[in-house]
Amino acid sequence: MNQTMRALVKAKPEPGIWMKEMPVPEIGTDDVLIRINTTAICGTDLHIWKWDEWAQKTIPVPLITGHEFAGEIVAMGSAVEDLKIGQRCSGEGHLIGKHSRQSRAGKFHLDPETRGIGVNEPGAFAEYLRLPAFNVVPLPDDIDDDIGSILDPLGNAVHTALSFDLIGEDVLVTGAGPIGIMAAAVARYAGARHVVITDINGDRLELAARVADVRPVNPSEECLSDVIAELGLKQGFDVGLEMSGSQNAMDQMIEAMVMGGRIALLGIPPGKSPVDWSRIVFKAITIKGVYGREIFETWYKMIAMLQNGLDVRNVITHHLPASQFETGFHEMNDGSSGKVVLDWRG
Ligand code: ZN
Repeated sequence: MNQTMRALVKAKPEPGIWMKEMPVPEIGTDDVLIRINTTAICGTDLHIWKWDEWAQKTIPVPLITGHEFAGEIVAMGSAVEDLKIGQRCSGEGHLIGKHSRQSRAGKFHLDPETRGIGVNEPGAFAEYLRLPAFNVVPLPDDIDDDIGSILDPLGNAVHTALSFDLIGEDVLVTGAGPIGIMAAAVARYAGARHVVITDINGDRLELAARVADVRPVNPSEECLSDVIAELGLKQGFDVGLEMSGSQNAMDQMIEAMVMGGRIALLGIPPGKSPVDWSRIVFKAITIKGVYGREIFETWYKMIAMLQNGLDVRNVITHHLPASQFETGFHEMNDGSSGKVVLDWRG
């Protein structure tokens, strides 16, 4: 094996990201070495690329970035059981501790000591990735590497969408980024009656309609109350999935919910955001914050759904060789692309 590899590195504390030759990671007794086939660019990676306030206070420099990946196991530590060389896999990018009450109770996604690959620890935008064997998620043959590389954000979508019972419910998704679009597709798959998705970006609404059977709405052109009337909903939406972090979207969602409605929040507002709490109290609305994916229940559910007909492939709008990463980041930054996959083979 080569001793060095190509990797996308946050090499300097300034905007940008750079392709560098880096040492192939060494693995410990409980780790595997994964040869990366495909990776996908996340909003998180864009923050790191732009070097915004969050990135400046979070990201150590230098750092190999990236956390959405699919690949194949090429080496294993001596204590690793149940896995094989050659196993295709993706994996959970949150490296959890074993000491907190939440971890000890098996609620791994709630462990406060979690460290993220590509954020706190070396990431997946590279030809090789070291990962604890515990975090490996084997990929069945019918899930290819492109889909494998977007299981992390699909997991966010699935975790958010399955926060509440969706069978027969009318669902409003605010924010038609890739995760919002996939959450809408999951809601439809899981038995929702009407799924409406809002965004102020027309390209994203078009993409949403290509991926899922949803009613796209641009709230700057169309009023949600008209859509509620058009669909014949008596009061409004039963379940809300807030994926945008926009204060306007949150206000519109609260307004459009039924009495006793339930809202899951994945979108992150840029800072403190005023909320009309009295509306929430008087409507008796339940609000749930969502972080990451349930480890490994969400992984199990999403793989089972993909094998049983959930189709989110069209959310991938670009498949580029890793050498063209700059094009990929610019496409993502434009705000009109879906998922951008970078291919590390060859
Ligand atoms: Zn991500």
